[in-house]
Amino acid sequence: MSRFLLIGLDGAEPTLCERWMNEGRLPALASLRDRGAYLPCASVEPPVTFPAWCTCVTGMNPGRHGIFDFTEQVDGEYAIRFVNSTHRRAPALWNILSQAGKRVCVLGVPGTYPPEAVNGIMVAGFDSPVATRIDRSFVEPPEIYDEVIAWRFADFQEHDIGEGWHTMAHAKLLAKIDDKAEIAERLLRREPWDFFMVVFGESDTVSHHFWSFHDPQSPRFRPGKESAIREVYEKLDHAVARLIDAAGEEVVVGVCSDHGFGGAGTGVVHINNWLAENGYLTFAPARGSMLKRAALRFTPHAARGALFRAFEGLAARAESHSRYAGIDFAHTRAWSDELNYFPSIRVNLAGREQRGVVVPGEYDAFCAELCERLESWDVIACARRRSDVYDGPFVERAPDIIIELALENSYSHSCIRSRGGPSFRRLQPDEYPGGKERGMTGNHRPTGVLFLSRPTPCGAARLEDLAPTVLAELGVAGPPMDGTSLLSQYSESEAASGYALASASVYSQAQERAIEQRLRDLGYFE
Ligand SMILES: [Zn+2]
Repeated sequence: MSRFLLIGLDGAEPTLCERWMNEGRLPALASLRDRGAYLPCASVEPPVTFPAWCTCVTGMNPGRHGIFDFTEQVDGEYAIRFVNSTHRRAPALWNILSQAGKRVCVLGVPGTYPPEAVNGIMVAGFDSPVATRIDRSFVEPPEIYDEVIAWRFADFQEHDIGEGWHTMAHAKLLAKIDDKAEIAERLLRREPWDFFMVVFGESDTVSHHFWSFHDPQSPRFRPGKESAIREVYEKLDHAVARLIDAAGEEVVVGVCSDHGFGGAGTGVVHINNWLAENGYLTFAPARGSMLKRAALRFTPHAARGALFRAFEGLAARAESHSRYAGIDFAHTRAWSDELNYFPSIRVNLAGREQRGVVVPGEYDAFCAELCERLESWDVIACARRRSDVYDGPFVERAPDIIIELALENSYSHSCIRSRGGPSFRRLQPDEYPGGKERGMTGNHRPTGVLFLSRPTPCGAARLEDLAPTVLAELGVAGPPMDGTSLLSQYSESEAASGYALASASVYSQAQERAIEQRLRDLGYFE
């Protein structure tokens, strides 16, 4: 029976892999392609890291595993909560394999905090709300904490992009790949395992922040660090080679990304300003929140987290406030959370929302009208209802309308928080480096990569195909999945659907503050 090594390169982009493989710069990936397979791999819609990895490890679309983003709206409230691994409603590979008596080792997969008790080792992903070095809660079992400490504490903020930031960030990213590869290599050689999974996030981070150096065609091009992305890919290729070598014989290897990457242009889309312009949304008259917003704008990053806490006490409430306080819901039919990585719209539906105004009998017609009008706006490629995008019992956790922004000469627009004003604007040259309220210089794209060490008859893959492919190679039956195996035949077993999943737990206030700060540091929230 085989073992399976799955290596995730977050955001690895097909066109970059192809170019640098052809130039001989990525020998490990090229070798997988030549002896096995190299396929484009479709992400989830929209291509967001959290739900994408959950789909990869469950074989199911977000409508069935229930994870759409780092946050979800609290039922009946204009408020969000942070989600964690206990909100996932479908078994992951490590649940199924542990129950079948297989040994697993899972390192750094986004969306895995708190780590589950598995038959083996689990180190949770970058989103772990771990604020201090004495907090061992991101590791299971806790005894291996000292060995993996380097996994977590080499991070840096990605929010205030000032002088010297890129030089610091580039060096840290390269060093982190080495640290992680070393930890993974040691565990690969020492631990007994049947399934080993490790995700590197550095390919995603470098692409968000260094695209304008890398791409001379970018309207935001800046000279200086042209090779930063390539150097990260080269180092990751070297890590892939190390891990494959450490894994030994009789191992099937997969290397995949959760989505691809492309450049962001100079266009900025303010969805709530468009909704206001078109009579769907009314901004609230500015009061205390205006003061607070002004204060936040001129507060140095380091003090901002403290300010949020002083104002609101609770991190989720601070983020909720930041998203919703500026909206007069009694006079609003639809609004957007305006997340750059997840452009979408929520309908202010009566009976569902606290101050809902759209009556249920008009909901369908209203969504249809809104989608049509959004699609007539030239910055939007498509606007679809959630039921047309997802399938499963948890579709209602998603926003009502999912938006795909149009590309302009292959560059994406950035979706940025509205504060009244125009629905579309151009970044000014001093904003091109990105950061708070300027978007990032690279954004996610819907197609990632998949490399397999064995040939497959398939010409393309979806993230849903990864979990059944792994289980089929390990000879373990699992629940019915949305994907299909790319190698051997996957055996579905209805009996295998009956996993006792953890009941959803909420974060403590301290954890909530830690995750809020972490995500803010990573530039996820404005
Ligand atoms: Zn990602």
